[in-house]
Amino acid sequence: REAGAASFPWLRFYPEGVRAHLDYPDMPLYGLLERAARERPEHPAVVFFNRTLTYAQLNHAADRFARALVRLGLRRGDRVALMLPNCPQFVIAYYGILKAGGVVVNHNPLYTARELEFQLNDSGCRLLIALDMTYPTVRDARPRTPLEAVILTRINEYMPGLLRLLYPLKARRDGTWPTIAPGDRVLWFQDLLAGRGGEPAARSTAEGGASRDAGEPRIPVPVDADDVALLQYTGGTTGRPKAAMLTHRNLLANALQTAEWVLQGKVDEGPRHRIMGVIPFFHVYGMTTVMNLAIAIHGTMILLPRFNVDDVLKAVARYKPTMFPGVPTMYVAILNHPRLRQYDFSSIESCVSGAAPLPLEVQERFERLTGGSLVEGYGLTEASPVTHVNPTGEGKRNGTIGIPLPDTEARIVDIETGTRVLGPGEEGELIIRGPQVMKGYWNRPEETERALRDGWLYTGDIAVMDEDGFFRIVDRKKEMIITGGYNVYPREVEEVLYQHPKVLEAAVVGVPDPYRGEMVKAFVVLKPGETATEEEIIAFCRERLAKYKVPRAVEFRSELPKSLIGKVLRRVLAEEERRRAAGG
Ligand code: AMP
Repeated sequence: REAGAASFPWLRFYPEGVRAHLDYPDMPLYGLLERAARERPEHPAVVFFNRTLTYAQLNHAADRFARALVRLGLRRGDRVALMLPNCPQFVIAYYGILKAGGVVVNHNPLYTARELEFQLNDSGCRLLIALDMTYPTVRDARPRTPLEAVILTRINEYMPGLLRLLYPLKARRDGTWPTIAPGDRVLWFQDLLAGRGGEPAARSTAEGGASRDAGEPRIPVPVDADDVALLQYTGGTTGRPKAAMLTHRNLLANALQTAEWVLQGKVDEGPRHRIMGVIPFFHVYGMTTVMNLAIAIHGTMILLPRFNVDDVLKAVARYKPTMFPGVPTMYVAILNHPRLRQYDFSSIESCVSGAAPLPLEVQERFERLTGGSLVEGYGLTEASPVTHVNPTGEGKRNGTIGIPLPDTEARIVDIETGTRVLGPGEEGELIIRGPQVMKGYWNRPEETERALRDGWLYTGDIAVMDEDGFFRIVDRKKEMIITGGYNVYPREVEEVLYQHPKVLEAAVVGVPDPYRGEMVKAFVVLKPGETATEEEIIAFCRERLAKYKVPRAVEFRSELPKSLIGKVLRRVLAEEERRRAAGG
């Protein structure tokens, strides 16, 4: 018991009502949707541009989609590519694929043909679901992939009245209305939902789109909780992206772990929650903390297909969300909205920031300006993704990622061997064990062996734990800069830059230097209308940082390269510098 308490010092800081251990039902992830549809059929599950789908409607649509997939020849374990922004079709298709026994493979709708081709081949997807607007990319990639059919849908399918009518006119004007390549097998999402056009290629008859086959497939197709439900390609900070295999059990566990945190035992309050769904569902962060969480608690998700500050602020005013998971760059953008003060954030009980470091300065300004609380959490694709979160309210500690979720163990180990467990206050690699940790990487046994040892996930992040069990991320192991023999963590320097009143965003990288090996360089975006000099920024850092950490160069940019979830891509900046140093 003593040893247990020492390994879990954070349990004392759990919010009231949150249990340290949960019971996880032994069922596939889609069991959550079926339960919600059974218990609250009329409750709104999805809100999209003023249109609502209830739990019964959502579950019914997922069943019909699953049936169409089975009729198309999908078998248990087959991979299906999903390449959609946040829209009702995403949720229907995602749960439909799972109910058909398939594996969802997420793709960013903004991928180029080359990126798409790599993932389709690596995962071996037989079917792909995409927006009509992105069909040209799919058409270009398709001949070099195992795809058998493409299922297209229109974003306006679920839009109300005028918006729905205006969309095709606009698409034709913008040239985004697709022309289907001759001989390309394209099916329409709505036809499949209506029970039309779902015959396998080999069995299609002269009647073509004629309706139902004699033998209706049984839905849902039973699967094991340990079956892979999702292949999720990770950001891939180094080398080529690889897919994490997340099982039904992993995803279900993480939805229930986060549900436990937000509901604090008050299960009856679940349905009153409205979760803002602006972070993309094709990234695990949005998928778990908006879509699966909403379904787990029988709440409502408010979907926005892309991030636009005005749309977000309008949606907050209109739908009064109670939760708003986001990423730091979103909160920075909101903070800089000229009419921020006109908006009322009082419905939001918690804004949760994850996926990237939240600069303290941004957190504090956000809380001052909106009067709401912004809590930081942490996770990674390989952990479905959430592992740490701050308690909301009094218990939160700014500047930390909080404490581990129920049933989640976390340790700090030495960076070199990864075997010696370090104590509070000591910096090392963060490792994690829990029901949300992936099965491994798809077809990458060596990388799996490196990342998973004795059930522990090696995160590649350097962190420290304090006496109470609150964790702070220092930086990513691979992004540490070594200059003249000293270690510099970019994040620490960025934190200082964010304190500068004229700085909107900052990224720090190591660039090749003949004397020091690497030199610290800062990339800075200034707030609108501001001007500053390199000397001024360096002088500001010199007052606040040890000499070796002070940037030796500052470059001003109008924006920083970012991943689609809004993570600043230091790697891209570092590569540019390396090319420049090599004279390229
Ligand atoms: P991904 O798998 O693409 O979600 O990326 C996971 C990585 O994002 C982690 O390994 C961290 O490096 C980073 N990350 C996520 N949350 C945070 C956070 N709160 N603070 C710092 N880094 C974070």
